Amino acid sequence: AFTIEQVKALVREFPDFPSQGILFRDIFPIFRHPEAIECLVNHFVDHIRALNQQVDVVVGLDARGFLFGPLIAIKLGVPFAPVRKRGKLPGQVVSVTYMKEYGPDVFEMQADAIESGKSVVIVDDLLATGGSCKAAEDLVALMKGNVVLNAFVINLVGLEGHKQLKAPVYALIEC
Ligand code: 5GP
Repeated sequence: AFTIEQVKALVREFPDFPSQGILFRDIFPIFRHPEAIECLVNHFVDHIRALNQQVDVVVGLDARGFLFGPLIAIKLGVPFAPVRKRGKLPGQVVSVTYMKEYGPDVFEMQADAIESGKSVVIVDDLLATGGSCKAAEDLVALMKGNVVLNAFVINLVGLEGHKQLKAPVYALIEC
């Protein structure tokens, strides 16, 4: 079995990926070990349960939020709903434009993914500037949901992404 400290140690750093000057944090080594995946998921579930707050839906961000969001949702016994880049989701959608490094991008959710008044936990692999997660919070707000937590594997605290967000931030690794 893996301890959470061993899971943290699996995250690797790649300088100059995907472009010069970027230090990329790679979480995929965790997914090479089923027991490490389970330890990570249990860690998030324990943290969410310890909040002692109602959680009705887990929302995952495109694309690495899809890796463990549904695993957390299974353990909590609640639905999972994806946030995706524009044009990927069928049916009626809600949309939010947000700023990325090289200009605006659009995030969408299916309009019936969250019922009014439901409590939501948003998950993603990494919090950087907070632009993506803020867009997800805005999408949940458009459906009149209530974000109770934003949970990440990694928070790049120096970028102060949490300042963009309304709900509290939890991260396994702060660097
Ligand atoms: P933000 O919108 O907070 O600036 O950027 C966060 C988004 O960029 C997340 O969806 C995350 O997956 C991606 N991202 C940015 N830098 C990294 C990185 O170093 N490693 C990983 N795994 N994802 C990153």
